[in-house]
Parts: sequence; structure tokens; C-alpha cells
Amino acid sequence: MRSTDRLRQMAVALIALAALVAAGCGGTATETTDTAASGGEAPAASLDRIEENGEIVIGVKYDVPPFGFRNPDTGDVEGFDVELGRAIAEDLGVEPRFVEAISDNRIPFLQDGTVDLILSTMTITGERDQEIDFSEPYYIANGRILATKGSDIAGLDDLAGRPVCTVLGSTYADTVEERAPDADLQLVDTYSECLELIQNGSVEAVVTDDVILTGMIIQDDSLELVGDDLTTEPYGAGLRDGDTEFQKRVNEAIDEYKEDGRWEASYEEWVGQYTGIEQQPPTMTLKEAIKLAP
Ligand code: GLU
Repeated sequence: MRSTDRLRQMAVALIALAALVAAGCGGTATETTDTAASGGEAPAASLDRIEENGEIVIGVKYDVPPFGFRNPDTGDVEGFDVELGRAIAEDLGVEPRFVEAISDNRIPFLQDGTVDLILSTMTITGERDQEIDFSEPYYIANGRILATKGSDIAGLDDLAGRPVCTVLGSTYADTVEERAPDADLQLVDTYSECLELIQNGSVEAVVTDDVILTGMIIQDDSLELVGDDLTTEPYGAGLRDGDTEFQKRVNEAIDEYKEDGRWEASYEEWVGQYTGIEQQPPTMTLKEAIKLAP
């Protein structure tokens, strides 16, 4: 697919999402998880369940191009996280089924068995590692600030007294509070809401991962990244705590994906062609990621 087609699809996806939100349908996971198991007894070991069902249920973002977003023409979810999810499913010999997992419900979704795996722009952190397990890092993002072109926001210090958007359940809920304590922090459920708020002038900046902000710039070129990198955010696949057999299989699948060229191809398709920045698959280990992450 040509990049102009992809850009158009991303823009259309977000317009469709905005319409859903406006219609009061939310855009959270509730409408997409109707057939997923939830609540009640502790879930069976993931690999047994996945093999028995012939499918792996993967939680991804639905409104975050270019990592996880719904293509309104086809109804399919697409993006860097989605492609990795398809590769893991293929490696396990089962079909992937994607459900929407926003930042605030992705860990509960793993814990209650709604999903088997999370690939939802999720940073590996020590705190999260207490609740769930992670794969080895599969992508390294950086925290940045997004502002409207021509604004006088050039870094963290300029956020004082200004309305700033980020998302509930994200690392930036803490980062902004700690590093820009005088900002007027607006916490919302989804990144598409942050985009809407900066577009209608309700906030003056959005703080989150560079790749998510790049997705916003692809949709609206009146926005730009400002200032330096704020944080390093190694992404990991989230798994239920203590499911070591499944963790090993997921790590093997990710290793192969990084080594055989599929990682580079996906990076170029979803990130590199927009940013012009070249990147290799991460070599950072899970232990290093836990030490380094915010
Ligand atoms: N990577 C950050 C996090 O996991 C921000 C992106 C997100 O909210 O998914 O919190």
C-alpha cells in the first residue's frame, strides 16, 4: 500500500472514531469483548487455553495509528503492534483475535482472562512487572511533548499553568505530575480524546510516546513535536503473571521476528516512512528495561 493511501486510511479511522465517541458509544473495549471470557475463576494456563480454542486473544489499541488502529474500510485492526500479534499467533499455529485494550484496562484485561496477550504500546516498568509479566522489549519509544505549530511551548518548564493532556493508566500520568507539577493535567481515557482536545484548543500540549504523537501529526500537520526526549519507554508484550511457559514461547516468537527481517519491514511500513528515522530491533534485555523505565 502506498503511503498516501495509508495516511488517508489513518485519517478516516480517526474521523470514524470521533463519530463513535460523539454518538456516545465510547470507543473503549466493552463493545468488542462480548465473546471474551471475563471475571470469575482464575484463567487456565494461557498455552492450554490458546491451543484448545485455536485462537489467541490479543489486546491492542484501536485509536493509535501507527501502532494499533481500526481501518474503517475493512474493519480490520492494523499497525506495528497488530502485525507483531499476527506473527506471534502464526508462530503458535493459531488465529489471532484482536480486542481493544486502552491504557487503563489492559492490565485488568490480562488478569481477568479477557485477553491472553497485550500489545498496546505498553512500557515495561518495575511497578507493572509486579502485577503481570513482560516479554523481552520489542520496541523502544521516547516520551515527548506535542504542541500546535507556532506555540511558545518548547519544553517541560513551559507547561506550568497550561492545560496538558495525557491518558489514565499511562506512564505519563506520573511523569507529568512529577516533572511538570504546575501543569494543569487533564487525564482522559484515550489518545484520540487528547488529539481532539488539542485540535479544539482545550489543551495546549499532549505528552506521551513519540510514536503515538507521530500518529497525531500524520493526521494533523498543524501539530509538531517540541523539546527533547523526556523518557525512554521500552515496549513489552504483557502476559499473565507467572505463566513462564507462555512467556518463553512469546519471547521465541519475538526473537525470530526481530532476527528474520520482519521487524525492520514492519518498522519501515508503520514508522520509518513517516519519520525518516532508521532503527534496528532493540537489543535491550527485559532486566535492563525494568531498571531503566520510568
Ligand atoms: N508507553 C506508555 C505506557 O505504557 C504510554 C502509552 C500508552 O498509554 O499506551 O504507559
